[in-house]
Amino acid sequence: MTTAVRLAEDPARPRVRVVAAHRRDACTSAAAGAIWDPIYASHPDVPRWSMRTYETLCHLHGRGRPEVRLVDGVEASRHVIPAPGWARELPHFRVAAPEDLPPGFRSGWWYRAPIVDMPPYLRYLERRLRSSGGRVSAHRFETVDEALRRADIVVNCSGIGARELVPDPDMEPVRGQLVAVRNPGITRFFAEHTDELEEMTYLLPQGDVLLLGGSADKDVDDPVADPQVARGIVERCATVDPRIGRAEVLGHRVGIRPQRPVIRVEREEAGGKVIAHNYGHSGAGVSLSWGCADAVAGLLEGDLQR
Ligand SMILES: Cc1cc2nc3c(=O)[nH]c(=O)nc-3n(C[C@H](O)[C@H](O)[C@H](O)COP(=O)(O)OP(=O)(O)OC[C@H]3O[C@@H](n4cnc5c(N)ncnc54)[C@H](O)[C@@H]3O)c2cc1C
Repeated sequence: MTTAVRLAEDPARPRVRVVAAHRRDACTSAAAGAIWDPIYASHPDVPRWSMRTYETLCHLHGRGRPEVRLVDGVEASRHVIPAPGWARELPHFRVAAPEDLPPGFRSGWWYRAPIVDMPPYLRYLERRLRSSGGRVSAHRFETVDEALRRADIVVNCSGIGARELVPDPDMEPVRGQLVAVRNPGITRFFAEHTDELEEMTYLLPQGDVLLLGGSADKDVDDPVADPQVARGIVERCATVDPRIGRAEVLGHRVGIRPQRPVIRVEREEAGGKVIAHNYGHSGAGVSLSWGCADAVAGLLEGDLQR
């Protein structure tokens, strides 16, 4: 949806239509937490794409968009590790003192991060798309060729759907789950830093709601909440703040992360038409969204002018 907005607002003014198989609230993006954190995706341009997204989300917050909050908090590891370079460049960065860390954590760092309330944010993006003349419709494409019969330029942002659509055997589903509870008064985020997606502990305050995470079930593409996973999430988060153990559970969120060894942002030609791929963002698609949207617009610059 971000890429569609970026293209619809491009000076070349292409006519943009989003065609999506899932309802807006049923796609992976609607399930995300969604804190800006560029660690769970791989591509040499991740630093650039993530910083571009950081700036854009801060800009949206500055313009009063209620779906984007700027929150201070701690990212922490269960091992003794140095803060990554990207964290050191962020506002309010400082190394966490031992007393800032919950039991079981041995190093950490503070920074200020955007946290996005995804369901209303996706609605905002869709309104913004429509106000630039873009349209949205529901349909599942069986092949990319089917999409190419409808338009001269196809942008493939199909997430885990790329596994069948392209088809791309490098795509792996990684199911993620969150628990939404009534916020007992937590205003700082806490995010566990791990080397790769696995069972993690994180607390993301979104006003009256607190999102608790998380899980990473590899090769699972069934987007149904598992009550046992949910109980584990609440128990782990209660070790960070005991108030969570007593908080009212409001709901569960589940999504399938589109994992790929390297994100695919690439232009291809097919029978005089053009495809730009933009998928495989794993656990960091929100954090890279505006940077990748710019990258796609850059790949298509000449095509859009033609
Ligand atoms: C629990 C959880 C927590 C997360 N937390 C964070 C976070 O804190 N920060 C962060 O940056 N990221 C986070 N992520 C990752 C992030 O959600 C994803 O990387 C991102 O949403 C992927 O976006 P996407 O647009 O590629 O995929 P999607 O949101 O899945 O969108 C793909 C779209 O393509 C459509 N589609 C697919 N196949 C077809 C087809 N054949 N024909 C037509 N349409 C098709 C789908 O219907 C859908 O509309 C989290 C993910 C989960 C599951």
